[in-house]
Amino acid sequence: MALLSIVLPAYNEKQNIANTADVLSKLLSENEIDYEMVFISDGSRDGTYEEIVKASEENPRIKGAEFSRNFGKEAGIFAGLELATGDAVIVMDCDLQHPPSAIPEMWRLWQNGAEVVEGIKSSRGRESLGYKLSAGLFYKIMSKLIKMDMSASSDFKLLDRKVVDVLLALPERNTFFRALSFWAGFRTESVPYEVQERQFGESKWSFWSLMKYAVSNATSFSTLPLQLVTVMGLVSILFSVVLAIQTMVRFLMGNSVEGFTTVILLILIIGGFLMLSLGIIGHYIARIYEEVKGRPKYIISRVTDNIQGEIIGSWRKK
Ligand code: UDP
Ligand code: MG
Repeated sequence: MALLSIVLPAYNEKQNIANTADVLSKLLSENEIDYEMVFISDGSRDGTYEEIVKASEENPRIKGAEFSRNFGKEAGIFAGLELATGDAVIVMDCDLQHPPSAIPEMWRLWQNGAEVVEGIKSSRGRESLGYKLSAGLFYKIMSKLIKMDMSASSDFKLLDRKVVDVLLALPERNTFFRALSFWAGFRTESVPYEVQERQFGESKWSFWSLMKYAVSNATSFSTLPLQLVTVMGLVSILFSVVLAIQTMVRFLMGNSVEGFTTVILLILIIGGFLMLSLGIIGHYIARIYEEVKGRPKYIISRVTDNIQGEIIGSWRKK
């Protein structure tokens, strides 16, 4: 019988673990799906891992691991993918904002041959205005840069074992899970779902963390910002040619511009462009530096007893 793994990254989600484990195990047994759950506590400081251990003692199909510190949701997802043993893997939030009711449909599509099943948001649920605006901007920029429509996509998806192995074999550190499944291709189906309201705890994303996420993902998936530097250069060259001609003509006619105003303005504008360009290039150099160092995506500090093998530390499946 085929095994379904469910990967659930959790950061300070103490109140959610037991409930989520209950809801999922009930649903999956009702649908006669053979399953395992992999909770990854992302360096939580509220006893999330202890909750996972408790759940795992009650239900041996529940596994869990703890990171040595907070490595971020991407790292959590990838650790879950590495620890999962199923023939198909579903990644979902552990706050049940991704409705478990979509799982049987995803599973059915997978059984009918789909290799990737994307969860597509049909409504974004209730979010604050600030969050909506920043998330909207984020997806606009991302979709433009990646040339894929990301506005409705999410981290809620099912991946076939083949796809999981492809993603795990990628050597890069700065991953963007949501877009990588698009990038990987494969036979893709989608399931629409409505984002549910969070029952316990609160969202871990602030405006700034979302912006940081946007910038880091944009640069890890596209070199367009670098080309922007070239465009800025061209624009200022055009501008300077026009201005140079005008200045020369005025000089020859004997009525050149007086005062430093023009000089100051030019220095400011050019200086601004230069620094912005350097910043963009610097950002890519930072990315290269991070990749070259080759540090692991995450460090596992503890795992539940039902996970086999030596996996403490920066573990990678052989
Ligand atoms: N999460 C994580 N590490 C982090 C931040 C979040 O593993 O550093 C998990 C979190 O526990 C949840 C999921 O990622 O399961 C989505 O986070 P959240 O619900 O805060 O985001 P939102 O639903 O508001 O976008
Ligand atoms: Mg959430």
